[in-house]
Amino acid sequence: MTNTEVIIVGQGIAGSALALELAKKGIDFRILDPNHYGSSSMAAAGTINPITGRNYVKSWIFEELKPVFKHTYTQLNEASGEEFYKDLPIYRSLHSIKEENMWLSRKEDSQYDEYLDFHTSSDAFKGIINLPQSFGEIKGSHQVQLRALLPYLQKKWTSQQKLINEDFDYNLLQVQENGVTYKDLKAQKIVFCEGHRVVHNPFFNHLPFDPVKGEALIIHLKEGFNVSLRDKIFITPIGNDLYWCGANYAWQYTDHLPSQEGFDFVKSNLDQILVQPYEIADHWAGIRPATKSRRPIIAQHEVHKALYIFNGLGTKGSSLAPYFAERMVGEVM
Ligand SMILES: Cc1cc2nc3c(=O)[nH]c(=O)nc-3n(C[C@H](O)[C@H](O)[C@H](O)COP(=O)(O)OP(=O)(O)OC[C@H]3O[C@@H](n4cnc5c(N)ncnc54)[C@H](O)[C@@H]3O)c2cc1C
Repeated sequence: MTNTEVIIVGQGIAGSALALELAKKGIDFRILDPNHYGSSSMAAAGTINPITGRNYVKSWIFEELKPVFKHTYTQLNEASGEEFYKDLPIYRSLHSIKEENMWLSRKEDSQYDEYLDFHTSSDAFKGIINLPQSFGEIKGSHQVQLRALLPYLQKKWTSQQKLINEDFDYNLLQVQENGVTYKDLKAQKIVFCEGHRVVHNPFFNHLPFDPVKGEALIIHLKEGFNVSLRDKIFITPIGNDLYWCGANYAWQYTDHLPSQEGFDFVKSNLDQILVQPYEIADHWAGIRPATKSRRPIIAQHEVHKALYIFNGLGTKGSSLAPYFAERMVGEVM
């Protein structure tokens, strides 16, 4: 029997952020994950966008999230020597006088001063896209290359014998008053971070989840740009002349795999935005673990006190995970 303090189920950005926080506090853990099967994090663009929505408003609790995600991802860059996290401005296409006026009036607001800029044109996109009326620039936005970061952490934790590459079987969990046993693991606590696959979790699947599938095409552009473009969809550079393009929102779906419907949605938008020819290199899909309230769920089970959940990161896992992992360990567990 192996003794540990915490078992984590799932190594998406939620489970990973939690493990990093436990390690910081010197708390021993083991993670189970079947090689990121159906992981939303692995399909994501990893954009951290301070200004969202049709009304260009600041993202929920952004000022509180900012110091925590900055610290977490900067430390990961430093420890790995890689650039998983970087600043990446977003250029938002403004297609009408109305959009332009809304942007300009938001920019006047002192709360938005450090985040918003305005450009009547941008040389960066000439000959590449159908130019809009003007561009709103979102400063203070970032990119986390989750599809590179998670395999890096997977490799590290596997070599430290902290990560077990297998699917967790709920039937084999034995719950005691002061802990749990799972196969040959004995722990004081178990935290479920399975993303949208929480629907199979008999202890927590009654919670108000509202998962939504999304798909992206990865395209190759010969002469591209080095900022993120937000037009009808996002077109975001991910290195090696490749661009992440997406995504759609589908509440009805049969599985987490790439679909014709998702492909058609992204491609038809790309064909309207881009004037430069492009090649499709890949097609990614995932199911965002959203909740009805659009807020994360970090909680202890009402009856079985050794059981916890960290989920519901929805569309914003990159910015929410480090902050809520800190609160989970500091306040809930
Ligand atoms: C197309 C798309 C674009 C997105 N773009 C962005 C973006 O730009 N910025 C942003 O912040 N967010 C974005 N998101 C949202 C982001 O992906 C999620 O918020 C975040 O990844 C959720 O992380 P998670 O760890 O909760 O879930 P997941 O990433 O889904 O991870 C869950 C993990 O649990 C494991 N697991 C599940 N069941 C079990 C089990 N029984 N046993 C063991 N392991 C299990 C899975 O293998 C998986 O690795 C996007 C999502 C999609 C689909």
